[in-house]
Amino acid sequence: MWTNSVDKALRDRAEAVIPGGMYGHQSVRLLPDDYPQFFDRASGAYLWDADGNRYVDYMCGYGPNLFGYGHETIDAAYINQLKKGDTMTGPAGLMVELAEQMTAMVSHADWAMFCKNGTDATTMAMMVARNFTRKNTIVLAKGAYHGAAPWCTPVKNGTAPSDRANQVFYTYNDVASLEEAVRKAGDDLAAIFASPIKHDTFVDQEDPTTEYARRARELCDENGALLIVDDVRAGFRLARDSSWARVGVKPDLSSWGKAIANGHPISALLGAEKARNAAATIYATGSYWFSAAPMAASLETMRLIRETDYLERTQSLGQRLRSGLDEAANRHGFALRQTGPAEMPLIMFEDDPGYSKGYAWNDALMKRGVYFHPWHNMFICAAMTEADIDHTIEVADDAFKFVRDAGTLPRIEKLAILGLLTDGH
Ligand SMILES: *Cc1c(COP(=O)(O)O)cnc(C)c1O
Repeated sequence: MWTNSVDKALRDRAEAVIPGGMYGHQSVRLLPDDYPQFFDRASGAYLWDADGNRYVDYMCGYGPNLFGYGHETIDAAYINQLKKGDTMTGPAGLMVELAEQMTAMVSHADWAMFCKNGTDATTMAMMVARNFTRKNTIVLAKGAYHGAAPWCTPVKNGTAPSDRANQVFYTYNDVASLEEAVRKAGDDLAAIFASPIKHDTFVDQEDPTTEYARRARELCDENGALLIVDDVRAGFRLARDSSWARVGVKPDLSSWGKAIANGHPISALLGAEKARNAAATIYATGSYWFSAAPMAASLETMRLIRETDYLERTQSLGQRLRSGLDEAANRHGFALRQTGPAEMPLIMFEDDPGYSKGYAWNDALMKRGVYFHPWHNMFICAAMTEADIDHTIEVADDAFKFVRDAGTLPRIEKLAILGLLTDGH
C-alpha cells in the first residue's frame, strides 16, 4: 500500500529551512501533489522514496543514471580513487587519460576540459566562442535549456537584462528563423547554440532535421563563428559520439555532463583544434573541477560505453515501452503523443491542453510504483530489463483504466505558475 507520511513530514520541515521547500529542477511543486520529494536509496533501475515505496525510475536522476544506480564497477573505480586521493592540490594523471578517451570517442573533439556541472560547460563554451571570435552575440533556440546561470536560467528573477545582452533567438529546426537570427547578429556573431534534439519541457520533442543542422554549420563557417552542441543531457544516450553524428554534422564545441560518469559529479567541454587556443586563454576553474574520483568513475563509464551494447539495449527497451504504451492507451480510448528517441521518451496525451489527463495518469502510475514525468523527457537506463518494461506497461494499463473510470479529471491549479517557466525569452 502506497503511503507518504514520512515524505509529508520532511516536506513540512523543509518548508521552514529550505526556501520554497525545495528549489531547482528537483522541486516537485510542478508535479502531481503527492509525488515524493525525498528519497532514501536507489539501485539499478529502482528508486525508493523516504516512505520506502519502490519505483521503476524513468527519470534516472534527470539524466545521470545511464548504467544503473550504484553500478558495481563504476562505483568501485570511484571508491578506489577516493581512497587514493580525490580533491588534491593538483589533478591526478588519469585526467589526461580521460581527455584522451573522450576525444577518441567524440569525432569532432581534439581537446577536453573538465568541470562539475553542465552549466559550467555551456558557460565555458560561450566564453571560448567569444574569445575565439572576439565577438559577443550568441544565437540560441527559443525554449532550449542550457543551464541555470544568469545568462541562461529559464526564470529571469534575480537576473539583470545585461546578463542576457547579446542573445538572439531562433526556432529549433526552422531554417528561416535561424537565418533571420544570424542576420540580426550582424557582424557580431560568436556562436550558434543547438540542442542535440529538441528536448524542451511541455512540448513534443523533435529530432534535428539534416537541413537545419547543416545550415547551422554553414552559417557558422560563413561568419567565422563556432557551432556549439549542448550534449549535456543527450550525450552518449543517442550515440557513442556527439549526438549530431546522427545527422552527420560536426560542432566546434560540445558540452557534456549528466551521464558521463553515471551520476558522479563531472562535466566536460570538448572542442575542435581551431578553438584550442581560445580555450587555453579563458580563465575558468573551480575548487572541485579537478577531483580525481569522478574522473575514475567517468573512465569506467567510457569503457562500458565502448564495450557494451547499452545503446542498442536502451533503444530496444524504449521501443518496447513505446509500442506497449500505445496499445494500452488505445485499449482505454486514449491517444498518446510519444516523441523523441525511444531511449529518451517524452509521453504526453493527445487532446490534453491543461495536462490534466497526463497529471492524473502519472499520479496513478507513481502510486503503482512507476516513476514517470508528465512534461519532461524521461530516460531508459541499461539496468532496466524487459520484465521492468512489461511490468510498466501492465501498470500503465491499470492507470489508464483508473483515469478513464475516474470520469472528471483534476484541474491542475499549479500550472498557473508555469507562466514563470514559459515566458523565458
Ligand atoms: C541539465 C542540462 C544543463 C545544465 O547542466 P547542470 O549540470 O544542471 O548545470 C545544460 N544543458 C542541458 C541540455 C541540460 O539538460
